[in-house]
Amino acid sequence: MEDRISPQSLEHLSVQDLSAQRADARAEELRRTLKQASHEYYVLDAPRLSDEVYDSLLQELLAIETAHPHLITATSPTRRVGATPSDAFAPVKHAARMYSLGNAMNFAELDAWFDRIEAAVGNLDASSFSLPICYSCELKIDGSSIALNYAHGELTRAATRGDGRVGEDITANARTVRDIPLRLAKGLLADLPQLEVRGEIYLPKTSFQQLNKLADEAGEKPFANPRNAAAGSLRQKDSRVTAGRELASFIYAPSEAHMNPQEDAAGDFPRSDLGGTQHAFLDLLCQAGFRVNPDVQLARTRADVHAFCTAALEKRHDLPYEIDGVVVKVDSFALQQQLGYTAKAPRWAIAFKFPPEEKTTVLREIRIQVGRTGNLTPVAEFDPVLVAGSTIARATLHNEDEIKRKGVLVGDTIIVRKAGDVIPEVVGAIESLRDGTQRVFQMPTHCPSCGTAVHRIPGEVALRCENIDCPAQSLERLRHWVSRGAADIEGLGTETIASLIDAGLLRNVADFYSLGYEELRDLGLGRFRRDGSEQTFGEIMAKKVLANIEASKQRPFARLLFGLGIRHVGTTMSDLLTARFTTLGQLQAAGIEELSAIDGVGPQIAHSARSFFELPENQAVLQRLLNAGLQLKNDAADHQLEQSLAGVKFVLTGALTQLTRIEAADQLKRLGARVSSSVSSQTDYVIAGADAGSKYDKAISLGITVLDEDDLLRIIAGGGLDGIQAAGKAADVSTAAEDVH
Ligand code: NAD
Repeated sequence: MEDRISPQSLEHLSVQDLSAQRADARAEELRRTLKQASHEYYVLDAPRLSDEVYDSLLQELLAIETAHPHLITATSPTRRVGATPSDAFAPVKHAARMYSLGNAMNFAELDAWFDRIEAAVGNLDASSFSLPICYSCELKIDGSSIALNYAHGELTRAATRGDGRVGEDITANARTVRDIPLRLAKGLLADLPQLEVRGEIYLPKTSFQQLNKLADEAGEKPFANPRNAAAGSLRQKDSRVTAGRELASFIYAPSEAHMNPQEDAAGDFPRSDLGGTQHAFLDLLCQAGFRVNPDVQLARTRADVHAFCTAALEKRHDLPYEIDGVVVKVDSFALQQQLGYTAKAPRWAIAFKFPPEEKTTVLREIRIQVGRTGNLTPVAEFDPVLVAGSTIARATLHNEDEIKRKGVLVGDTIIVRKAGDVIPEVVGAIESLRDGTQRVFQMPTHCPSCGTAVHRIPGEVALRCENIDCPAQSLERLRHWVSRGAADIEGLGTETIASLIDAGLLRNVADFYSLGYEELRDLGLGRFRRDGSEQTFGEIMAKKVLANIEASKQRPFARLLFGLGIRHVGTTMSDLLTARFTTLGQLQAAGIEELSAIDGVGPQIAHSARSFFELPENQAVLQRLLNAGLQLKNDAADHQLEQSLAGVKFVLTGALTQLTRIEAADQLKRLGARVSSSVSSQTDYVIAGADAGSKYDKAISLGITVLDEDDLLRIIAGGGLDGIQAAGKAADVSTAAEDVH
């Protein structure tokens, strides 16, 4: 029978496109990397690649070899089992080869295997097995393969798989594994002059965690996973160490020497029928005293097999030991014999591997995305690859530092996964697969969207474009400008703003003040009436919105400054800056030192404000705002008001009835108060409206004076705390007020 791989395995799109010469070089690089990984995995018990990454590279090599069969070599990792055994143990020549298993990475590949079995069965002599074909479904235990030999029921030898032909003699160590019977219980198997069985030695998850905890405490290198811990524990020179490791076993098959006349050349192994089927043999193993995994199911249909695989995947993390898939075996030994073996694995069995959470692919390009708030984000673009159930082709690399930390170059073979099972993530690069064509990625000096020079605020990792006129940021900046705490323009929702941008009527905040009545009235909203005509903004809405835009010109300086969306300049910072600089001109002229000298303004904020005002693009927009008549300065009347609340700190919470929270904050600020959003021990008063929640509770717990809306109205009307002092409610804020005066 032909052993083909299904098209699903050929998902590395690049493989199909590779020229013969490039395929040759790539296959060689893959072979080298895989051989090195096998050595680290099997001989040193210290893998550097995850199994999923190893499998992904192996699949790529297999795909190349399928597309270019002349590239297959006899020692290719696609044809070899395990690795050359270590010489620390006496070599054991296996009576029959110990094979590996073919893989199915998804149900389509599993079904392709069923197709091959069914096609082959059609050409076989069906007199020795019964139809329909039954399949034994077993959990694929992630441990270390072992062969156990018994003579008349006594354990005589235990060996590792090694390279499949020659393994390592680990009898002394295997004897310490408590559930390996040294003497078999009376019955068919104990009576055999020679018996060889195969199974898996594993380390339960709790023992693995304990082992690594001890290694950590002793300052030793921890094991990468329970499988390598099991293999490493089994291959200790001192069997007392093995005895302390809590290893366990599941035994699952007779040696091929019992089954296959060609394999056992010496004829030592009786070819009794051993139950005749896999499921009957498992019963014999139990009767003889072996530990057999109870999670076995005899399946008659593909759907049953799929269901077993799905159930195994679901309970995988609840099992006390690791599994990495399901092994599906043709149940009849007679049919197994007729189906035979490939160079590496039996044709009658296959390992259904769980969907990998990690895969490899090629990083083609890193592109810069300008975020809605001006951050420049490098995004990795790679050959599409199926990871945990869906195809991914892009993943964020976050920022320049992250690219350096991950050490990825454009053109690298990279490892990708889905973080938290959802978000695509680049894990790192496989450096051994570099061929000199890879290049270091350079972050741009200018914004790819608007061409403005970009900069990095000290202490931050991201590069930023501060241009208020940058098309990539338009929607977000315009939405922010119309919001209630800023210019507060009612009637302009996200959809309308997006339509205005699409119509070429809006790009930056100054454009609001040039909008004409007719263009607004006739603006199409992308929604359609029954008669097919597009819904427009209409006369009434256009008039209302223009009135609201006009009214926004009178918003306090602090709110308009906040509306500009300067990084780190939120409402509190806008209050601080406008308290110190009374006009936009003064603020624009302030240097970093002058800005940082303000109490509460750190170097980051100063730098951010400075780089914003320095940009000629921003200066042009600000000039347009001034020309349109916006009051980008403090109201002269405000300055004549006595700053009777200077330094007094308020927090507003809950719903007010007479005025909005923003209006209340504006009124308090006019009297010099500081209004912040969170309650701390620094807060002097919390003004609580209806349904005040956690801020109210916190104020009570900190012993802060809580006022109600009537108190607030008294403060505003009286221009200070006198009104509430009379009611005996004022807190002792003399120090704060003195500090400022
Ligand atoms: P395998 O582990 O994929 O499958 C074959 C093995 O499954 C058998 O030899 C047997 O030991 C085991 N098995 C468990 N339960 C079984 C059951 N119920 N019935 C039959 N067999 C069962 O193949 P492999 O050849 O042992 O190892 C290859 C795998 O090793 C690769 O797929 C890869 O994941 C891993 N590997 C990783 C690295 C690395 O660097 N991370 C390197 C080499 C190999």
